[in-house]
Amino acid sequence: RAKSEGKNRLAFYSENLTKAAKLRLALDRSIRRALENREFVLHYQPQMSLHDDRPTGVEALVRWKDPTRASLVYPDEFIGEAERTGLVVALGTQVLEMACQQGRAWLDEGLPLHMAVNVSARQLRSPNFIQVVADTLERTGFPAGLLEIEITESTLIGDTEKTLAVLMMLRDLGVSLAVDDFGTGYSSLSYLQRFPLTKLKIDRSFVNQLPDVGAGCAISEAVVKLSHSLGMTVQAEGVETVRQLEALRAMQCEFYQGYYASRPMPPDALRAWVLERGLSETIKAPEEEISPP
Ligand code: C2E
Ligand code: MG
Ligand code: MG
Ligand code: MG
Repeated sequence: RAKSEGKNRLAFYSENLTKAAKLRLALDRSIRRALENREFVLHYQPQMSLHDDRPTGVEALVRWKDPTRASLVYPDEFIGEAERTGLVVALGTQVLEMACQQGRAWLDEGLPLHMAVNVSARQLRSPNFIQVVADTLERTGFPAGLLEIEITESTLIGDTEKTLAVLMMLRDLGVSLAVDDFGTGYSSLSYLQRFPLTKLKIDRSFVNQLPDVGAGCAISEAVVKLSHSLGMTVQAEGVETVRQLEALRAMQCEFYQGYYASRPMPPDALRAWVLERGLSETIKAPEEEISPP
């Protein structure tokens, strides 16, 4: 009896695996098609200065306009799989191109918004990543000084030498480097002094515990202090209430992002929103910030 049960279980597992594998294959095929047909689009979420509660820039967030589906597909459904297959490299190249093009278009309208772009570990370590970044900046005419690349802590862990070399080259191009979801990835802090990082983004899971006294508050405050003592700036993610905002202001956090200010928006809506709100006075004058390409 035990034997036949074991057999059944095995059959059950392999049937499930096959199903999962088939689903993955279908997803891979449609991601490939989506890249060819340019079905990926970007939404932009304002990044706000806590000094005047006005935008200094935006984060580009990818969405998929899959023609076979009724609504937009969010990154949680495809980034992981694209990362697994390596398609995230081609996807990331398209994202960077779209973001820099959009950033340049806004600049031409007199809106010098900083542009933050998420880059996955696999993309950062792909052989010609630096070339792609340099070419994209040149082709679009978007100033390197307005580009910020967001990486997660896990990116900083494997293959330290290679990662360090890539990050130094980005810095030399004039691109800023933010650590996304900070505090959730890895407990080793030694990499903070090794890598040329410019900003830490406090993960939403800590921010949403504000303003009550507790672990989330202690951690948020510690990250603010850590950033400043290492000469970095700091930004809170996932701010949803005015009380969270006030707690962050009291901690002297400089930037925030979150539904409290705005959800991510398509480019036209973002532009209208920024024009209505007005740019932060903490944005440096375009003359200082923007050198000709
Ligand atoms: P992330 O980079 O940490 O981006 C923040 C996510 O939190 C976004 O989800 C954003 O819509 C959401 N968010 C912003 N404010 C709030 C808030 O106040 N409350 C809550 N509950 N959520 C908020 P989204 O757009 O679904 O993106 C999820 C993740 O997918 C991103 O996390 C990033 O890791 C990844 N991703 C997005 N675009 C790209 C991309 O172009 N390339 C790569 N490699 N990854 C991307
Ligand atoms: Mg991000
Ligand atoms: Mg994040
Ligand atoms: Mg996140």
